[in-house]
Amino acid sequence: MKKRLFIDMDGVLARFHDEENYLVRMYNAGFFENLRPFGEMLQAVKLFMRCNPHIEVFILSSLIDSPFCADEKRRWLRRYLPEARNVLLVPQGVDKSDFIGELTPLDVLIDDYNKNLFSWKASGGRAIKLVNNINHRGLIGEKWRGDLIQYNDMPFATCHKLNTYYEYAQMDFAEYLQAALPVALPVASVG
Ligand SMILES: [Mg+2]
Repeated sequence: MKKRLFIDMDGVLARFHDEENYLVRMYNAGFFENLRPFGEMLQAVKLFMRCNPHIEVFILSSLIDSPFCADEKRRWLRRYLPEARNVLLVPQGVDKSDFIGELTPLDVLIDDYNKNLFSWKASGGRAIKLVNNINHRGLIGEKWRGDLIQYNDMPFATCHKLNTYYEYAQMDFAEYLQAALPVALPVASVG
């Protein structure tokens, strides 16, 4: 089965929700192009791409109704993540999992928005929530209880977590034990 990693931009790679008055300013020219990056996440993605040339990595970001958004997101990526070859910009109002189509557990999405995570999971993919500096406080809607990555985790740790997931995703628990503990542990006798 094909392994694919899909990565959201706003709130995951780019600092979006902590921009002052962002709900108004996001329609202005220059807003998306000038968002500050989450440095550790960018480094983690770069590291993951270098270590896993056989895994397809996609940027999967939703557009808003602004004439600047698409071009500025592409320019932002050329500046901060020129390695990204596959950039998918989803029209406003279209669900990300619907946009991609058929998903398997080896289609991993990293996103900061619960709605996208629940929908991706319901469609058969694997969803991981990016916990950034403002979200995941349980203030709005159903809380996400699945896998998490923290925005400021060490890049190596985030990369390792993803690698481990792809490595073991298709195993059941017995196979996992076999792989992780090739030497049988002695069973302690009782009494
Ligand atoms: Mg987002």
